[in-house]
Amino acid sequence: MKGRVEIDRELCKGCGYCVIACPKRIIGTDSEFNKAGYYPVRLTRPEACTGCMLCAEVCPEVAIMVWREAAR
Ligand code: SF4
Ligand code: SF4
Repeated sequence: MKGRVEIDRELCKGCGYCVIACPKRIIGTDSEFNKAGYYPVRLTRPEACTGCMLCAEVCPEVAIMVWREAAR
């Protein structure tokens, strides 16, 4: 299973829950803050995402969308 993740950097508060939750450790903190003054997260290795959705489930701001696609 492959996944595709979109993170809304303006909704993100930089709490880091998704960073801890991701079993692939592919979510990291951005070096530029957003309009609200938080450092949002970003995907460091999108190609490694499995689409497990754990990041989206733990996000209190509903800032993460996950799509899954079957392996070809
Ligand atoms: S869907 Fe799973 S593997 Fe992909 S970024 Fe989120 S927690 Fe990590
Ligand atoms: S859990 Fe949501 S609000 Fe917290 S760092 Fe991740 S994307 Fe941002």
